[in-house]
Amino acid sequence: MGLAELEDLEVFKPGETGNVEKEEAAVVSKKLPQEADYLFDRKYVCPVCGSAITSKAVRSGHVKTVGTDMDLRPKYEQLDTLKYDIVACRVCGYAALARNFTDITESQIALVQSKIKATFKTQAEFTGSMYSYDDALERYKLALVSAIVKQDKTSERAYLCLKTAWILRGKREMLEAMLTEAKATGKKLKKEETQLVSQIPELVKEEKAYLKNALEGFLGARRTENFPMCGMDELTVDYLIAALATVFEQYDVAKKLLGNILVSRVASNRLKDKARDLKDTIAKVSQ
Ligand SMILES: [Zn+2]
Repeated sequence: MGLAELEDLEVFKPGETGNVEKEEAAVVSKKLPQEADYLFDRKYVCPVCGSAITSKAVRSGHVKTVGTDMDLRPKYEQLDTLKYDIVACRVCGYAALARNFTDITESQIALVQSKIKATFKTQAEFTGSMYSYDDALERYKLALVSAIVKQDKTSERAYLCLKTAWILRGKREMLEAMLTEAKATGKKLKKEETQLVSQIPELVKEEKAYLKNALEGFLGARRTENFPMCGMDELTVDYLIAALATVFEQYDVAKKLLGNILVSRVASNRLKDKARDLKDTIAKVSQ
């Protein structure tokens, strides 16, 4: 990828500065920021067991957005910020989205204590400088278990499924990029890289299973819950359902929702543009 190539760029040509040691120091100091440079440690207290938690979080002002996927997955230039959205307690196993980690009632705490903490094996302290996709996946799966146990709203569970699907997609894209780069440069993949790349079909399958759960959850929530839902207004949720329905070729469901958005007086131009794009996509694939 671009970053790795740039890192190897020499800032000065040999002999340009006349001092080898100085040259090396200059190369080091001009090194491009790494993922860990965009992160900081945020402290929490677990509402279930009282343990102190340190969680990696993204310095939000420092990352640049580069758009969204059809299903609204946000993408950033420097790193996949979605990996850092979950706070998890390594002692009791309680986990949730950072924005509602402490949002838990007494009766929910009792449920997590009896159904998760009682059997959870305390994990070692995290010592890495960033979360891998596998670290992130584990955190999302813990959050989903907590959401189920504490009987969170259908929409909240659907949203976690959606975000888990995005993490699986992020991992797959990373592996696909590795494969593409190897093909382009003629570099042979190492044994462990070959093993990783062989996970791609399984990642596609798993992503689809999570998207299916998200679709069903949001369809149910739309009938029974009030808006805003997971921070999204009604039209945004309708667009999201349309995007998910399209994945599963439920074009009639999608077209009806998109039609409502396109004639809406309150929908933003941005959402209307996305709805129009999705409608065009459906027209092409459903012919
Ligand atoms: Zn805890």
